[in-house]
Amino acid sequence: MAKYTHSVAIDPEKCTGCTTCLRRCPVEAIRIRDEKAVINANQCIDCGECIRVCKHNAKHASYDKLSDLDFSKYLIALPAPSLFGQFNHLDEADFVIQGLLDMGFSDVYEVAKAAEYVTDLTRIYMAGENVARPVISSACPVVVRLIKLRFPTLCDQLVPILPPYELAGKLARERALEEHPELKPEDIKTVFISPCPAKVSWAKSVMEGQTVHVDYVTSMNDVYMTLLDKMKGSVPGPDSAPEAGSVGLRWATTSGEAASLMNEGYLTADGIDNVIKVLDDLESGMLGDIGFVELNACSPGCVGGVLAPSNGYVARLRLQSLQKTVVVKPNNLEDIESLERFKGEIPSDYTEAEAFTYMPDGAPNMFKMMLAMKKAEALAEKLPNKDCGACGSPTCRAFALDVVNGEAKIEDCKVRSELQG
Ligand code: SF4
Ligand code: SF4
Repeated sequence: MAKYTHSVAIDPEKCTGCTTCLRRCPVEAIRIRDEKAVINANQCIDCGECIRVCKHNAKHASYDKLSDLDFSKYLIALPAPSLFGQFNHLDEADFVIQGLLDMGFSDVYEVAKAAEYVTDLTRIYMAGENVARPVISSACPVVVRLIKLRFPTLCDQLVPILPPYELAGKLARERALEEHPELKPEDIKTVFISPCPAKVSWAKSVMEGQTVHVDYVTSMNDVYMTLLDKMKGSVPGPDSAPEAGSVGLRWATTSGEAASLMNEGYLTADGIDNVIKVLDDLESGMLGDIGFVELNACSPGCVGGVLAPSNGYVARLRLQSLQKTVVVKPNNLEDIESLERFKGEIPSDYTEAEAFTYMPDGAPNMFKMMLAMKKAEALAEKLPNKDCGACGSPTCRAFALDVVNGEAKIEDCKVRSELQG
């Protein structure tokens, strides 16, 4: 059974019903009911825009708190590449890794390292036969869910490879078992340090019979102060040498993933509104000969996630400096002993079984939806078309659909009542 767990939630006590989030939600998932915002779970893509815009702190993301983690277990930190862009005057990545070890993590497996493997796997995948083009990155879970819910005809074009944070969890666990045969599998726990709520939702959403490689997801905001404190006193040792190169770190910002493929025909876009425009164009076949499309819900990429403490553009600048201190791409599939394992497991059965069926909810009932939309279009003609939001729906068109679906009453449109006298 599919079970999708949203991380974005509302605190009704704090909500004033101001309608700011109602207007900003890119997929019109919010309504105001009884003067409080409510989120339609079937529509929400966990992009975090409503958290960003709510001035009353009524929206938040749930995640695993650092204080709740059991450090008596073999805890492996999985820092997102964007974490390395959060610190001023950071000369070398060692300090972040040592800081995490000093916080009590038993090991650190950089997600940027897994990203370098995903780069190789994507190249292998794209060189295959009968691959639907353009191939669309599946690294941003907001984009994957958006495609699944609103652009289902593009599903076949998503890269069928697990995103780097999940692959990092899998590889980190395998390394721990190899290096510490005394450990029981249940004693090893992986903790992803996330810049965005959508990755929390991804990791918390499981399907029966499937393996989740990330046990806990905490937020960068939650880790930041403790880590900064540890970093101030940390002395990097041999265990804190970074294992990822500049290719992996660049995944934190827009175009990093696409550029690493060395494929000239690619398109990248960030910001949820731009992403939707590109997907609209892709769906209607308006874009020309493109090999690869990288879309990021946040600007300028994951560094702009709502759970990251720094301004995304500042973090990007810091990462650009840091990239000069590491080698280009130390992690290559062909260099590792277990290439056969990767080949068999990831591009075929592993990904198809997990990466695609992992996003739950299934496709909406298109026929029912089309019928309702047709009725709503007719009703919308009779509405004032002011998109004032006073009815609790974001636009007159959305209100018409809510009425057709029985979620609102035509009398809720006060403007129409006034016009009619
Ligand atoms: S922005 Fe949305 S959640 Fe925040 S107070 Fe206004 S209506 Fe409520
Ligand atoms: S997280 Fe994004 S999709 Fe979900 S309700 Fe907020 S703005 Fe809308």
